[in-house]
Amino acid sequence: MTTLPRKMLIDGEVGNSGAEEAQYDFDLFVIGAGSGGVRAARFSANFGAKVGICELPFHPISSEVIGGVGGTCVIRGCVPKKILVYGASYGGETEDARNYGWEINENVNFNWKKLLQKKTDEIIRLNGIYKKLLSNSGVKLFEGEGKIVGPNEVELTQLDGTKLSYSAKHILIATGSRAQRPNIPGQELGITSDEALSLEDLPKRAVVLGGGYIAVEFASIWRGFGATVDLFFRRELPLRGFDAEMRAVVARNLEGRGINFHPQTNLTELIRTENGIKVRTDHGEELMADLVLFATGRAPNTKRLNLEAVGVELDQTGAVKVDEYSRTNIPSIWAVGDVTNRVNLTPVALMEGTCFAKTLFGNQPSKPDYMHIPCAVFSIPPLSVVGLSEEEAIEQANGDVLVFTSTFNPMKNTISGRQEKSVMKLLVDAETDKVIGASMCGPDSPEIMQGIAVALKCGATKAQFDSTVGIHPSAAEEFVTMRSVTRRISATKAKTNL
Ligand SMILES: Cc1cc2nc3c(=O)[nH]c(=O)nc-3n(C[C@H](O)[C@H](O)[C@H](O)COP(=O)(O)OP(=O)(O)OC[C@H]3O[C@@H](n4cnc5c(N)ncnc54)[C@H](O)[C@@H]3O)c2cc1C
Repeated sequence: MTTLPRKMLIDGEVGNSGAEEAQYDFDLFVIGAGSGGVRAARFSANFGAKVGICELPFHPISSEVIGGVGGTCVIRGCVPKKILVYGASYGGETEDARNYGWEINENVNFNWKKLLQKKTDEIIRLNGIYKKLLSNSGVKLFEGEGKIVGPNEVELTQLDGTKLSYSAKHILIATGSRAQRPNIPGQELGITSDEALSLEDLPKRAVVLGGGYIAVEFASIWRGFGATVDLFFRRELPLRGFDAEMRAVVARNLEGRGINFHPQTNLTELIRTENGIKVRTDHGEELMADLVLFATGRAPNTKRLNLEAVGVELDQTGAVKVDEYSRTNIPSIWAVGDVTNRVNLTPVALMEGTCFAKTLFGNQPSKPDYMHIPCAVFSIPPLSVVGLSEEEAIEQANGDVLVFTSTFNPMKNTISGRQEKSVMKLLVDAETDKVIGASMCGPDSPEIMQGIAVALKCGATKAQFDSTVGIHPSAAEEFVTMRSVTRRISATKAKTNL
């Protein structure tokens, strides 16, 4: 479907007047108060809609009945993870500082419990801010588990087991996703990212299973705090889906930082012993660990929503199927964020929530725009990308693509003595000169890539990059001084509109 039914546009007046609206308790009821749900609820209320939202009670570690206003990003995702990345970065920085004249004579001790408390204080603070954002917008917040009992009917189970029932003209599913565990003997001895962000004690020996960004980030965090880290993953390189050359750079840098890589290796069994967890692999290896993290994917939270009762369609992973306006197949039921079959990132959930509210209550039909979504892997050092990878360019570009790369040891390392390469890459459409992809592995790359994303969104050409004056001395200036083509690649398929 590409056009909106006329009725939806009329819903912009919802809550203002009219006999039809009066028969519902709410114009909109949102299930799940994470990034997408809170954004959709607030913006809808600001457009004049009467909005209710429900969320599970707060706890840093989620379950089917525990969650908290703010959702994954704030309580057990982006924010606490980044706090630990900052904390872990001081490990390498402290080593590097010696060659800058810092005389660190005594042992540098790290107090994990202190950082953990600071992290918990921060997420409690943000949980409070999110609640305030909702109440300031006039959204009614309920604590309890929501489920759908009819196309316009939501049932809430409160902590004490009592049930409440509300009718709503529209229902928004924004229940996010949860970490999954592999089905291997002893899997109960492993943890997921939820627990990893709230550990009582820092591990000395950590095993991480998974090749995605969450696996790589936790490997960096624990290594930064001085643990022995073994990273197991299925492919030859971690970070499937990212530019292959950049994946290799990340791998080399992380190995350089002391992370032990085990490519094309799976875990087959965990066994509890007196000395820790014995980990067995499908290569016949055995090693001991204090902690095993499963970062092996997440599944959408749809199981307990009773969606089959109303016939909301799911895909084979259990994600809610939606169209470009976040509509499900049931006209009164919508979905945004990680619970849907789209990109799973906080800014994307926010964008989908905003577009949903504008479309339904703001009389401004809005589709989320998935072109040029920048993203970062907060490994130490980080990887950041926007636009196409080289592999995607070969699949999708209109014609030949020019690849510009720059590999350098950052200036800071010349004094610190650290041997670690930063790599930058630009992909340029040979015919139009448009920059269609950018990536960087190296310190500060997420901060740099945000600006590059604006340029790509505006359709900047390589000539415009080249005519931009650099900031000297910086790593970022390399993006505007790459003059020689490293290679020319040819697209294999016929052509989209880039
Ligand atoms: C470890 C980790 C690190 C991450 N790092 C990043 C990052 O650096 N950058 C980035 O962009 N993204 C990151 N993400 C992804 C990001 O957190 C998610 O994409 C984002 O939070 C999705 O928002 P959402 O609103 O769809 O879902 P969520 O934020 O998960 O919110 C869903 C809410 O619904 C609640 N809920 C579920 N079922 C019910 C029910 N039946 N009734 C009531 N409430 C219910 C849940 O408790 C939850 O609070 C990370 C994720 C993880 C796990």
